[in-house]
Amino acid sequence: LLQLNKIFKWVNSGGQRVFLLKDFNLEVEEGEFISIMGPSGSGKSTLLNIIGMLDNFDEGEYNFMDESVHTLKEKHRANLYKQYIGFVFQAYHLIDELTVYENLEMPLLYKKISSSERKALVADMLDRFNIVGKQKLFPMQLSGGQQQLVGVARALIGSPKLILADEPTGNLNSKQGEEIMEIFKQLNKEGVTIIQVTHSEKNAAYGSRIINLLDGRMV
Ligand code: ATP
Ligand code: MG
Repeated sequence: LLQLNKIFKWVNSGGQRVFLLKDFNLEVEEGEFISIMGPSGSGKSTLLNIIGMLDNFDEGEYNFMDESVHTLKEKHRANLYKQYIGFVFQAYHLIDELTVYENLEMPLLYKKISSSERKALVADMLDRFNIVGKQKLFPMQLSGGQQQLVGVARALIGSPKLILADEPTGNLNSKQGEEIMEIFKQLNKEGVTIIQVTHSEKNAAYGSRIINLLDGRMV
């Protein structure tokens, strides 16, 4: 599905080059379920954002579904993202000005899905994630856990080929967290590729491969 080849990403801090990712290599096959672990600041979110084509890198090659991401125009990347990727952000990134319903509808609008089908799919997600009755509320009117559930629902609603999830259960209680992991497990059985970042050993064990990061390197 994707290959990262000798990826470097750095920032300049006081004239010094600080590496966020250093000589990073990864190949992901379709249908894999990968867990990324590592201490805070080790580069997990940076890596996930690069895989999701939401962030740039400074050196190396990235191929996603036989496209050379490093040579693609911004618009083409955005289209790949919209078509194939569902992203659960660490800080939810719901759109504050839109209701829960409108947030959930967004990926379906990108996919040009009809209004009646959108309605049915959103209703199904609200039901599945136990957020029924909240569709007219704005993100700020929800609890942190509810916002996280909407974030997960939004990532899944467009039936993505690849799910990238950055601490998807970080703000949920253990029962809710387990439900999300079981949903991921089922989707993975159906062929969806999943890459999750987690601090939890228990959640990491859902993956068939665990990648440990330290200071921007795989260890
Ligand atoms: P956490 O578990 O806390 O979410 P993480 O492993 O996801 O951590 P990243 O968010 O990928 O860590 O950040 C890796 C390092 O890069 C951190 O030290 C962070 O401060 C730094 N960093 C990230 N983005 C930038 C930026 N735009 N400018 C400067 N430093 C940055
Ligand atoms: Mg992070």
